[in-house]
Amino acid sequence: LSRIAARVRRIKPSPSTSAADRANELRRQGKSIVNLVVGEPDFDTPPHIRQAAAAAIEKGATRYTLMAGTVELRQAIAAKLERENGLRYAMNEIIATSGAKSAIYNALAVTLEPDDEVIIPAPYWVSYPDMVLACEGTPVTVACPEANGFKLTPAQLEAAITPRTRWLLINSPSNPTGASYTAGEYRALAEVLQRHRQVMVMTDDIYEHIRFDGQATPHLLAVAPALRERTLVINGVSKTYAMTGWRIGYAAGPADLVQAMDTLLSQSTGNCCSVSQAAAAAALDGSQDFVAESVAIYKQRRDRTLALINDIPGLHCSPPPGAFYLYIHCGGLIGKTTPEGKRLDQDGDVVMYLLESEGVAVVAGTAYGLSPYFRLSIATSIETLEEGCARIARAAAALR
Ligand code: PLP
Repeated sequence: LSRIAARVRRIKPSPSTSAADRANELRRQGKSIVNLVVGEPDFDTPPHIRQAAAAAIEKGATRYTLMAGTVELRQAIAAKLERENGLRYAMNEIIATSGAKSAIYNALAVTLEPDDEVIIPAPYWVSYPDMVLACEGTPVTVACPEANGFKLTPAQLEAAITPRTRWLLINSPSNPTGASYTAGEYRALAEVLQRHRQVMVMTDDIYEHIRFDGQATPHLLAVAPALRERTLVINGVSKTYAMTGWRIGYAAGPADLVQAMDTLLSQSTGNCCSVSQAAAAAALDGSQDFVAESVAIYKQRRDRTLALINDIPGLHCSPPPGAFYLYIHCGGLIGKTTPEGKRLDQDGDVVMYLLESEGVAVVAGTAYGLSPYFRLSIATSIETLEEGCARIARAAAALR
């Protein structure tokens, strides 16, 4: 008999964390490792944001804040949503949380009854299905093949909806593929949603500013405002402002939902860090130069890495329009044999082979729900990316 509850026994540790752990273990053993697992910007948090945090400490912003976050932060979030997304939210429709991750988890926790279904287009961010399971819901993953740009089609959405569907999770640009919905694609999905009023929509907009195609990321609600009463907007400062460690995310949506999240927070984690809230407000209100500068750097890395990967026989990657990953098709390596005589039967084998033979750490497509692929993060220096690609090329060439 386990003393751990069934709902927790159903979930597994994050596969990207496990891959990073294995890479670190090999590094400790003295192996040279190129880590292309990381899902966070390699930049420092911009100086004006760090200074705002230091000033907040000196001013005594070191106490509990309002559960939903300080008025200053929520005003900064409201201003951001209006300025950048054309969405208007009142103070009682916004809640700050310890990262977007906790906003998503809380939203699921306050809405899912046992066995309620959550539609998750695959490839998906690894945490979605496990969060649903932790809240006793049922993840309904829908495979969105590369031929459809890794995007959910209206017909697929229609087919996946049942009377038990509570949420559709949309992440655009997506981790791991960078897939980004156009306004037209949103309109078509919204038409399906109009027919199914029980379905709420969570939009995870965490990568909205990391775009390589010069396009602004449209918002579902700007295209389909009628969905506002059943949409929860999720975002945060982690990726846009290189603030992963500060742990500030937020949700904006109907007041009853936000109120329920507030109540759950008040009886669980409490408010998110006061100092980080001041930093996040400065990030949202201050100069946005860092965003364009960092995106320009990501784009150089993306272009360089794409060229190197697409030169390797057996691998293929189409240019991701956003986020900072390449989702690389490795079907051409499946079925081949390593110099040690092991056959590569699936992408997990390819990833293990890359790590053990050349010390390159990436994450297998199985973790994201669509195989045979692996995810490579470009949130690291060009030199590291070039070294990683050279090693991947060497490993691929050694296969028979
Ligand atoms: N959503 C997606 C798609 C992500 O990739 C991540 C981080 O990897 C998050 C949410 C979590 O962001 P945060 O650091 O704000 O919790």
